[in-house]
Amino acid sequence: MTTTFAELKLAEPIQRALAEEGYTTPTPIQAGSIPYLLEGRDLLGLAQTGTGKTAAFALPILNHLLNNPRRAPAKGARALVLAPTRELAAQIDDSFKAYARHMKLKHAVIFGGVGQGRQVDAMRHGVDVLTAAPGRLLDLIGQGHIDLSGLEILVLDEADRMLDMGFVRDIRRIVALLPKERQTLLFSATMPKSIEDLAHSLLRDPAKVEVTPPSSTVDRIRQAVMFVESENKKAATLLLVDNPKVVRAVVFTLMKHEANKVSEFLNKNGIVSEAIHGNKSQGARERAMKGFRDGSVKVLVATDIAARGIDVDDVSHVFNYDLPNVPESYVHRIGRTARAGREGWAVSLCDPEQRAWLRDIEKTIGKPVAVVTDHPYHSEAAQNSTLRPPVLGGGGGRGRGGRGGPPAGQRNGPRGNGRPPGAPGGGNRRSGARRVA
Ligand code: AMP
Repeated sequence: MTTTFAELKLAEPIQRALAEEGYTTPTPIQAGSIPYLLEGRDLLGLAQTGTGKTAAFALPILNHLLNNPRRAPAKGARALVLAPTRELAAQIDDSFKAYARHMKLKHAVIFGGVGQGRQVDAMRHGVDVLTAAPGRLLDLIGQGHIDLSGLEILVLDEADRMLDMGFVRDIRRIVALLPKERQTLLFSATMPKSIEDLAHSLLRDPAKVEVTPPSSTVDRIRQAVMFVESENKKAATLLLVDNPKVVRAVVFTLMKHEANKVSEFLNKNGIVSEAIHGNKSQGARERAMKGFRDGSVKVLVATDIAARGIDVDDVSHVFNYDLPNVPESYVHRIGRTARAGREGWAVSLCDPEQRAWLRDIEKTIGKPVAVVTDHPYHSEAAQNSTLRPPVLGGGGGRGRGGRGGPPAGQRNGPRGNGRPPGAPGGGNRRSGARRVA
């Protein structure tokens, strides 16, 4: 396995930018993917956010552009990256900008929720790299503002999340407008059948690179759960974030209005916090992210979808105000911390209705989550709850009608070390990449 960027034979301006970014060693997904991509191979990359996958595709794209100088096609792009959310799209665009600081790169980013005028202007003469959320991109193509018939490289980033968000038809429509001769890369954190099918239809003889699956990648994150009644969750959250060890924290809620309420409660109690979710304007989200990055906002309270694009390296703690009902979301959430080789804590509040979800999560991650009991809100009832998981409502809201069903599996007795969240201990393992093609 390659161990330095120099060995990857990337062009000098890219190497210089990486050195300035402070990157010394390729991450496993980078070391595994970049050699194939420089050869022009299609690629199926199994990797979560936080593994360095953005650079894994951005660096070979920039290398290709440097080695094959050509004018960008009018209204078109030479490389297109499709991403599920506007935040992620903006961050990918920023990464390209950073890695291309010593070369001339025309780039643009396109997403909904803002006026289209500037995006149309940016595309008029074409760009080298376009990063886009599928919906707005298709819209602008439909209006004749964008023409992707000259595309050379397509990247689908967080493909599983794009499918979860219902973008599959948009993606297929976009792909139908691209030249057949192109290089295609697909990155996904998980590999359900739907992704396998999409990969099979889009990729030609792809190299496959996977980093250690999430269940073991998350080992680096110290995890704990506190059993509480739902009415005590706000107070318990305050107790957790009001700790000097918490430098920068993301608190996850299931519902948007809950995110607002938790954020207001924290602010009232002296913790600077912002809520981000789908109902917030783009400007409000960007302000919140900026404050979070520069440290003026300590706690970001977010719903799952809004949090997809949070790419901040030193999130010290993730707190699950609500547990998610999908175990993979838990893995995604806690992956916001312990990034770029750092340590991180993930502490979840579990109420009686979410007890069964915790069991599902533990099955997925393959180990029990340590229980912390020495806090003022401990609830035996929540710990021993056998309620059935509540049914999720259509709008992402949580139904409350799941009570009274059969016991949801075995009861777990008390366990764990009772250590307060934030205490040191545990290893710091880096995930390994496996090349499988
Ligand atoms: P990503 O998985 O692309 O979201 O990347 C996660 C974080 O790791 C980003 O903030 C990158 O800046 C950082 N990163 C990516 N590659 C490297 C590297 N080779 N060395 C150090 N940090 C990196």
